[in-house]
Amino acid sequence: MIQKPFDQREGYIWLDGQMLPWQDAKIHTLTHGLHYGSSVFEGIRVYNYKPFKLKQHLQRLILSAQTLGFSLPYSLEELTKSTLEVIKLNDIKNGYFRPAAWRGSETMLICGSTADASVLLAGWPEFENKRLELRNRGVRLTISTKWRKPDPDASPYTAKAASVYTLCTMVKNDATASGYDDALMLDSKGRITEATTANFFLIIGDELHTPTPDRFLNGITRQTVIEIAHTLGIKVIEKYLTPEDLKTAAGAFLTGTAIELMPVKSIDDITYDHQHPIFTKLCAAYEKLANS
Ligand code: PMP
Repeated sequence: MIQKPFDQREGYIWLDGQMLPWQDAKIHTLTHGLHYGSSVFEGIRVYNYKPFKLKQHLQRLILSAQTLGFSLPYSLEELTKSTLEVIKLNDIKNGYFRPAAWRGSETMLICGSTADASVLLAGWPEFENKRLELRNRGVRLTISTKWRKPDPDASPYTAKAASVYTLCTMVKNDATASGYDDALMLDSKGRITEATTANFFLIIGDELHTPTPDRFLNGITRQTVIEIAHTLGIKVIEKYLTPEDLKTAAGAFLTGTAIELMPVKSIDDITYDHQHPIFTKLCAAYEKLANS
């Protein structure tokens, strides 16, 4: 099915304090965020009209912008209120919500500090088919050999900044061109970090092992899964993981707002139980929490 392009859809988008008809939510071609990547965003899932972990996501949006050196002209409370209005107005029962913020058109100088910050809040109901299909069969991963995760002093890795995603897009496209669903990225020391837009867990014995998030986004879903594991009495070990560790695991999965918990079927020629009982247990608890 060909999706309708995002600029041709119907509904309402909140842009800089105004609720605009969807197709009128436009920005100028000479915008700092477009030219220099001074742009940050969020991805939030809506369950039964409720945006899951909304406060954490909006706080991360504000912090991401601050990391890049700009402030949002709206408070957490204002953004929360407007998010709920957009969800209601667009009748998003279950779907995806996308806030973003960027430096505007007041300057084309690289420093960008005289540009005003803009904010948008948009959302849409999502079709679940592809995600459920992947969940049933488990994703097939490879390890990227072409690109590595930048060192922590080479990238604003705690920010959900558009610039960080350039590499993610290239790695993802290389992986899918080779017949995989996604790729894990290694760091400069050859240790496993995360997939292109999701955090990574191994199931070893009855424990979860997950890479230390010191050079990639410590995802909200990752943190939620760790909390759930603790309440279920499942031990979680955060440590540096190497490709050798992949062979010792019975199961593996990815976490992220959009994909929730996604089982891994294989990583190159290593295969896993994609319906591992620990995974299934965590999945059920996550679903319950998200829909509560
Ligand atoms: N890492 C990257 C690079 C991501 O894009 C995402 C998705 N936001 C994640 C991890 C998972 O983060 P979260 O659970 O907060 O969605």
